[in-house]
Amino acid sequence: MFKFTITAKEARARTGVFTTPHGDLITPVFAPVGTQATVKTLTPAQVKELGATLVLSNTYHLYLRPGDDVVAGLGGLHRFMRWPYPMLTDSGGFQVFSLAQTRQIDDEGVTFKSHIDGSSHRFTPQRSIRIQENLGADIIMAFDECSDPNDHQYSKLAMERTHRWAEICLKAKRRGDQALFGIVQGGVQADLRAISATFIASLDTPGIAIGGLSVGETKQEMHDMLDVVQPLLPENKPRYLMGVGTPEDLINGVLRGIDIFDCVLPTRLARHHSAFAPEGRLNLMNATFARDERPVDETCDCYTCKTFTRAYLRHLIVAKELLAGTLISIHNLRALIRLMEVIRTYIADGTFEENSSLLLQKWSDNAKRSIQSEVN
Ligand SMILES: [Zn+2]
Repeated sequence: MFKFTITAKEARARTGVFTTPHGDLITPVFAPVGTQATVKTLTPAQVKELGATLVLSNTYHLYLRPGDDVVAGLGGLHRFMRWPYPMLTDSGGFQVFSLAQTRQIDDEGVTFKSHIDGSSHRFTPQRSIRIQENLGADIIMAFDECSDPNDHQYSKLAMERTHRWAEICLKAKRRGDQALFGIVQGGVQADLRAISATFIASLDTPGIAIGGLSVGETKQEMHDMLDVVQPLLPENKPRYLMGVGTPEDLINGVLRGIDIFDCVLPTRLARHHSAFAPEGRLNLMNATFARDERPVDETCDCYTCKTFTRAYLRHLIVAKELLAGTLISIHNLRALIRLMEVIRTYIADGTFEENSSLLLQKWSDNAKRSIQSEVN
């Protein structure tokens, strides 16, 4: 049911096809995030129109609201949110650690209080798999613990727990139409990352995720960890770098053999009036744009850029009109999806290495080159 075929390779970068029950993913692929079973401000038709093929949703949020049993009763996540294409859910672990009010972790699982109403809950590896089976995404994640990346001693403990939990998740899994990915952990510790990559690669899973990066470490540290992990992973399984990232992170990730990415950045920036542009991120609320008749990005093929001026977008923002969030989300998501399309073409042509420096020049420090004030 899950088959990964590499169609072209250039150094460590590759492009290929990952077959899922709801359609093929052409990799490398960037997945928009639909935390609460919706990509914020967009309809599924708009998300499809952008060229998105994979949408991520969050187990922790959907378990709390509306409840994974409710989603299952309504036919599963694809049917519930009317996205009949490939979907991915995380294990809930990361959100428990980052959002829940209080949490107590032990070797069997995590007990936590909901950030919504303070009610008590417990996730174990088995429970995470049951919830993800109720939600019904095509790609699901093993329950893991993401530690403070700089704490070697604790990262080792969390990594060992993550490995035990991955084995439990594999045994607990019942549905044959979901691809369970194990997660490589180990903070920014090269020795731990090597151990973790070797262990997770030894499991019988259709793909491998790399977690615990883009959590505050430096770019160099992230690249170093990917350089450690990549040679230890099998060629024939897709590699998913969780929660990454910026345009330059995507380029650097593909250069290091990554196939799947997801990040809230494009839609989060949009809600803060910030748009990706070649000259840097534009804060469209700025008065500079009040009479600016140019599109956000003259080279972009999205609906927003083909239709509207920066002046109109600025007006919508100042007037607090909801359409602003929709139009900027369309542009920001399309910018990353288009970047992946360009990268795939380069890999297929064997020109990614030579073009990657140009792409990086265009996108490096994009945030720093932003116009006027900026959010991150
Ligand atoms: Zn655009």
